[in-house]
Amino acid sequence: MPDMLAPGVRWFDDWFAIREVAPGVTAIGEPRFHQLNWNYLVAGTERALMFDTGPGVRDITEVVRALTPLPVTAFCSHMHFDHVGNLHRFDDVAVADLPLLRAHERNGILFEPGERFLGHLEGMTWKPMRVQQWWPIGHKIDLGGRVLEILHTPGHAPDHVALWDPLANLLLAADYIYLGALYGQVRGADLAAYLRVVEELLALVGDDTLIFGAHGKPDDDGRHDAPRLYKQDLKDLLTTLENLKKSGDRPERIEVNERMYLLTAPHAFASWQQPSESI
Ligand SMILES: [Zn+2]
Repeated sequence: MPDMLAPGVRWFDDWFAIREVAPGVTAIGEPRFHQLNWNYLVAGTERALMFDTGPGVRDITEVVRALTPLPVTAFCSHMHFDHVGNLHRFDDVAVADLPLLRAHERNGILFEPGERFLGHLEGMTWKPMRVQQWWPIGHKIDLGGRVLEILHTPGHAPDHVALWDPLANLLLAADYIYLGALYGQVRGADLAAYLRVVEELLALVGDDTLIFGAHGKPDDDGRHDAPRLYKQDLKDLLTTLENLKKSGDRPERIEVNERMYLLTAPHAFASWQQPSESI
């Protein structure tokens, strides 16, 4: 079904679609999965990194093996079920060294990280996995000729991290920002964190920065592509969050721009609510 994919995107098999989004960076999409996940394989000269692994409906390691002969480390933006589904299938697994994840590690095995996984929403079960490396926030992942910095980017999820490649001018933003519905309504979502992080990211990126998210949205012809974001999208998110905070309104859905909207729930507002009785 070639008409399901945008120009430049090709099928790997009947499930995964791939496109090179930058030199050495391949987006691996799952346009048949209803969440329309896009995962990113980043290659250096010595190693490769699989950033997010999809829901695990199908084995992504076969795609990875076909795309690179390099040793691969798998690393996820956060522990939601639609990102960690294939993590247990990788020999080398790295996890962000955050206390809320460390709390679920015993004897080198990472067990279901409580409410971070959310697999119950779609009947997915956690597969305990051995973790080879715990990478702290700010850690620079050296792949040989390419270094990716780990940024802590909560808002959607408290354990969420993004990857910043300054040389390639590339930001892999995962579930912090993508196309379609931004999930600020899930457990762990926090709009104050969302706002703080967008300010941080805007200080980092330029108008020509390549920004990619983890969920796509078909174009008007129903064709799928890796979700490309722009600095303007971050600016629109900043404006949306600032206005929301100022207004005191608590809508369940708010438009960010014509490409995305934000879903919320009462708990997500908790951290920026000022005590109204204070003088
Ligand atoms: Zn998520």
